[in-house]
Amino acid sequence: MDISKPCRRCLLSEMNDASKMDLVKKGIEDLPEIDRADEKVYGERLSKCRLCDNLLSGTCLSCGCYVEIRAAIKKGRCPEKKW
Ligand code: SF4
Repeated sequence: MDISKPCRRCLLSEMNDASKMDLVKKGIEDLPEIDRADEKVYGERLSKCRLCDNLLSGTCLSCGCYVEIRAAIKKGRCPEKKW
């Protein structure tokens, strides 16, 4: 994969950027269990992000968040109301 170009459809977990992925893992681990979305909801949310024109290299251009962290928050909301 050419990581010099931003990927419009990639999540951080699909890119070769260990430092950003560590940041995402830590962000999710730091969430109290009770505040985390379950795996099914998490997967459904990320599926919608993958199809969204606002996704750029794991970041939501609408809110600036890493979508893998935003989607992991139980009460998290898509800024464009897609999930
Ligand atoms: S606008 Fe919503 S669906 Fe699109 S990338 Fe951002 S959080 Fe994901």
